[in-house]
Amino acid sequence: MITMKNIIREGHPTLTTVAKEVKLPLSSQDKKLLKEMLEYVKNSQDEEMVEKYGLRPAVGLAAPQVNVSKRMFAAHVTDFDGILYSYALVNPVLKAKSKELTYVPGGEGCLSVDRETEGLTPRYHTVVFEALSYDIESGELIPIELTLSGYVGIVFQHEYDHLNGILYVSKLFPELPNAIPAFSIPAEEESI
Ligand code: ZN
Repeated sequence: MITMKNIIREGHPTLTTVAKEVKLPLSSQDKKLLKEMLEYVKNSQDEEMVEKYGLRPAVGLAAPQVNVSKRMFAAHVTDFDGILYSYALVNPVLKAKSKELTYVPGGEGCLSVDRETEGLTPRYHTVVFEALSYDIESGELIPIELTLSGYVGIVFQHEYDHLNGILYVSKLFPELPNAIPAFSIPAEEESI
């Protein structure tokens, strides 16, 4: 299983490298990693597991963060309408984005960034991703199109940035007067 020991931190060159397309069909190693990344995120939202394994709570994890420079990430996040978005995605592509911008009012966090940061990270208010969704149970890869807004959209954009070698710390602004804050902030501080 993935724990904080497996997660590389700011300064590691893999985090600033553009990740490679995942070759299909998926190798057994890639399948295992997709499963483990989604498991990490789920475990990190479970108090008992957090305590037992010293996990830092998160809503997403990208393969480059475990030093695998491939275009894959996992996200497990509930929006403010209570809808759960739980995905392990392969070769996602950002197909469309709104003109409107948004941001997390308290600023973003990241498992690969250990320091406190100040500032706001601009994100598109609404995004459309095309990707292959890996079904952990069946082992199938299913083509999907996801239209995501607000906080959930921010989470997916943060993970997508990891695939392009971009950390949120390179996009910090003291204020974003033209952006609309993502409405609610998650109850607990989470990293993405
Ligand atoms: Zn991150």
